[in-house]
Amino acid sequence: MSKRDLAKLTWMEIRDLPKDDGVVVVPFGSLEQHGPHMSIDTDLYFADRFLDLALEKLPEEVACWRLPILPVSRSVEHVGFPGSLWLTSETLLKVIEEMTAGLAASGFRRVVFLNCHGGNLAILEVAARDVRIRTGMMVFTVFPPALMPDPVEIDDRERVYGIHANDWETSVMLALSPERVRKDLLDVSYPSFQSDTLRLEQSAANVAWTSRDLSKTGTFGDARGATAERGWQRIGPMIDRLAGALTEISTFELSPPQG
Ligand SMILES: [Zn+2]
Repeated sequence: MSKRDLAKLTWMEIRDLPKDDGVVVVPFGSLEQHGPHMSIDTDLYFADRFLDLALEKLPEEVACWRLPILPVSRSVEHVGFPGSLWLTSETLLKVIEEMTAGLAASGFRRVVFLNCHGGNLAILEVAARDVRIRTGMMVFTVFPPALMPDPVEIDDRERVYGIHANDWETSVMLALSPERVRKDLLDVSYPSFQSDTLRLEQSAANVAWTSRDLSKTGTFGDARGATAERGWQRIGPMIDRLAGALTEISTFELSPPQG
């Protein structure tokens, strides 16, 4: 594992890495409320751990390295809940610009933004294209929870509105790090949001929201049925997909049609 951890290498070792085929993964975490039953480092822990689990699965010949995780990102939607920290969009874009400039100057050609926090999705897409244009590197965004449909049976309400401290997150945490879950406080809270058209995210018509607008406890979804077993059913196939994506990305080339 440690040879995939860029921070543990020397500058000469990094200079000599095979960068033509190869990719650096920059993981993004967040520190934000996760309902009454999960710790504020949930998304930070997920991004860090999912990445390590995927790196362990990569065949030796796949050139893929990771940076340490950036612990604070774009979590302003949780304003009003103690323990939620965030960078402004302007600061986060600047941090990404300057970090990736260092990667480009080191000779890397590909970079992945690996993120497990929904509130980062939009800004990372913006940043990725900016970095592509500014540095010439190939830039990829990966959101592991969306790599595959949820393999565990959940009802429609949970599928649409279960987005935070929900069955998925709570089950996965019960599997990987149960000490981060307060099992006596497993919560349920759905937005009182009756529309077939407007959704919270990732649809054609979204409403801009903060957690305080829609949830008293900070939860979006139903964590009461969460179990470690439901977590493991999700983790295995997701990590396989993540390892597959990193493998494909490590040799990917953007090649416009000739002629
Ligand atoms: Zn989360």
